[in-house]
Amino acid sequence: MLTQFGLSATREGLYDITAQVADAVTASGVSDGIAVVYCPHTTAAITINESYDPDVARDLVRGLDAAFPDRADFAHAEGNSAAHLRASAVGESVTVIVEGGQLVLGTWQGIYFCEFDPPRPARKVYVKVLAG
Ligand code: ZN
Repeated sequence: MLTQFGLSATREGLYDITAQVADAVTASGVSDGIAVVYCPHTTAAITINESYDPDVARDLVRGLDAAFPDRADFAHAEGNSAAHLRASAVGESVTVIVEGGQLVLGTWQGIYFCEFDPPRPARKVYVKVLAG
């Protein structure tokens, strides 16, 4: 079963989507298996990291901005090559174990949609849950 949900990304940053992914797992009816969380965009990404202290998500963005700054020699006419670099560095998907109908995440972990090229009012996230 493939589930899709949308979000409006008004700023660069990490958006906690753990609850939406958990809802997709529940809707799938799968008790044991894996959930693939996938982002069909080229300037956004999906990651898992600490969701307890919101400063971690902010620092991740600061670090990625510093590691992949905009450059005058980038050729891409849209002018957002730095966002493309950040998206590829983070990756387009994560896979999470599902056990007993629940996402198997560490105590401090959350699933994040990462926006690198705001504003984007119609972002999508796909969740595919496979039994096994
Ligand atoms: Zn572009």
